[in-house]
Amino acid sequence: MSQANPFRSKVALVTGSTSGIGLGIARALAEQGADIMLNGFGETSMINGLIQELSSMHGGRVLHHGADMSKPSEIEDMIRATESKLGRIDFLVNNAGIQHVSAIEDFPVDRWDAIIAINLSSAFHTTRCALPGMKKRGFGRIINIASAHGLVASANKSAYVAAKHGIVGLTKTVALECASTPVTCNAICPGWVLTPLVQKQVDARAAEKKISNDDAKRDLLAEKQPSGEFVTPEQLGQLAVFFCSDAATQVRGVAWAMDGGWTAQ
Ligand code: NAD
Repeated sequence: MSQANPFRSKVALVTGSTSGIGLGIARALAEQGADIMLNGFGETSMINGLIQELSSMHGGRVLHHGADMSKPSEIEDMIRATESKLGRIDFLVNNAGIQHVSAIEDFPVDRWDAIIAINLSSAFHTTRCALPGMKKRGFGRIINIASAHGLVASANKSAYVAAKHGIVGLTKTVALECASTPVTCNAICPGWVLTPLVQKQVDARAAEKKISNDDAKRDLLAEKQPSGEFVTPEQLGQLAVFFCSDAATQVRGVAWAMDGGWTAQ
């Protein structure tokens, strides 16, 4: 294993990696030499640009599969396509997610169903499909991107909090089922990260309170995140690299917060 590219022979599938945290993790794994299967929505030209960028980091293979993570048959196809086109899946990062903010009695039923499908059930489908290959080859790292909302709740986020608490539970179960194998499963619980998912909440807060965008960001952070600073996709990428490393072999079933102190309160 070359020091310059420690993940040279590894293949990573990162769901929801055309934006935000997933893209930060895909970049970090590509920097370590891994081949990457990207997933997520976006314009073809933008996705082609990402493929170019990531493959130029280490000259490895980078592909994109457009599976809709709310559709089990498309998820199955993505796992099969990754294994056939890139040869294997060593690192599975379940990251795709959406948000909807509303009081429970007004919560649109279709938004509840979509959040549970994309933020929770998709990880069940990717894991059940990718695990047999990992066990057969004798290596695997499954990383579920949960949230501070996998550990504590906030009002008006019932579906998101339910899905994120659910994925922390799923993480522990998969970790135990794989405990005597070389496959690990862990969750990362980010606090606020300034991605399009959170920018929408900043915009809503600015409009509601009639304050500037910068003041809305400060306001959002002050409410939950004692550091007063956003977590970055780059920092989360480095935590994912650690979970994928040999040093993390005995890290199993944890829900690791990177949240500026949010859940320490
Ligand atoms: P984002 O909106 O920047 O990116 C979401 C990604 O998921 C995009 O690539 C999008 O195309 C993809 N996606 C959405 N629906 C999809 C679907 N049906 N099928 C396939 N791909 C789909 O969001 P983000 O903030 O980077 O969030 C990524 C993950 O991190 C989510 O699970 C989110 O809950 C979690 N998270 C985010 C924050 C935060 O503060 N931003 C904090 C904690 C956890």
